[in-house]
Amino acid sequence: MRRILLSEPIDEMGMKVLEGKAEIIMSPDPSGKTVGFLLKEADGLIVRTATQVTAEMVSAAARLKVISRTGGGLNNVDIEAATEYGIVVCGVKGPQDRFVAEHAVAMIGALAKAFYYLDPATRQGNFRSRFEYRPVGLEGKRVGLIGLGRIGRIVADICIRGFQMEVWAYDPYLDPGSLDGTPIVVVSDMETVMKTADFLSLHVPLTEETKGLMNRKRFAMMKPTAFIINTSRGEIIQETALMEALKSAAIAGAGLDVYEKEPPEKGNPLLEMANVIVTPHSAALTKDTVAKLAQGAAENVLAVLEGRRPSYSPNWELLQRA
Ligand code: NAD
Repeated sequence: MRRILLSEPIDEMGMKVLEGKAEIIMSPDPSGKTVGFLLKEADGLIVRTATQVTAEMVSAAARLKVISRTGGGLNNVDIEAATEYGIVVCGVKGPQDRFVAEHAVAMIGALAKAFYYLDPATRQGNFRSRFEYRPVGLEGKRVGLIGLGRIGRIVADICIRGFQMEVWAYDPYLDPGSLDGTPIVVVSDMETVMKTADFLSLHVPLTEETKGLMNRKRFAMMKPTAFIINTSRGEIIQETALMEALKSAAIAGAGLDVYEKEPPEKGNPLLEMANVIVTPHSAALTKDTVAKLAQGAAENVLAVLEGRRPSYSPNWELLQRA
């Protein structure tokens, strides 16, 4: 019987899909060392976020045919190495898109309304805080989007139709014909978006090109009244540069769901800043999405083992041609 290794527990909807179809091996912990060891006996691997699947791990996994993630971002898998060893990498896109977009928009709202300041102040009896911080109105404000894929587009739609905001976006790989008439201003120069946004929201994948994209120079371009929101991947922002920008009031605040290192270290100064809203990489984790992502990852692993195409894979076509 086929063996499928789970690096972490997945929702019962995913377990139901696998039931009777494969022998399940549950890794006692998601560390590379443990998963790498157990992987040697597995035909398929299902990963969530905590495990980094390295070239070393795939090269030692002689039986492995598929690595399936319970999400769309595949940056914790070495896709190039997997491809070299003929291993299909797949993910699940779709169920989480709207919830991540809602999370980004919720952060825009919470930052604009200064909840990070007014909520603790009110609890502490400082009712005069109502005169200390003026909430920002959203109508007519500019949202700058870096990346206009599945999630970026939903953010744009909510901001334009829900709040009458303006949306400017930069995405050099965009097919402009795919925008369905949504009135988004697409520009070819990323820095124009950064310089003019009141809310800059990041929706790009983590790649060599986007790693460290928000650096000191780019934070310095932003308006001092602007907020940055990151629900994409932590390493797209250089956290030391963000800290400096916040401390020097080069920007007004930040909303973060993702971090350079996850979980962020206890002493991470960003966690101490009053004008930073933080959540624990939870944007996609509604109950319904978690179940659908686990189901999708389980269906994908079985699909590949049975010679069928998974719902989303960056190397399936390439491996079929090979
Ligand atoms: P997507 O692939 O649909 O869209 C990404 C867009 O970024 C594409 O249109 C692409 O052309 C564009 N892009 C790529 N490189 C770029 C660059 N250098 N500059 C500008 N644009 C560039 O992806 P998505 O599903 O919308 O996901 C967006 C991000 O959200 C990813 O980083 C993903 O990992 C992350 N995500 C986070 C969570 C969470 O829980 N916080 C959940 C799901 C996805």
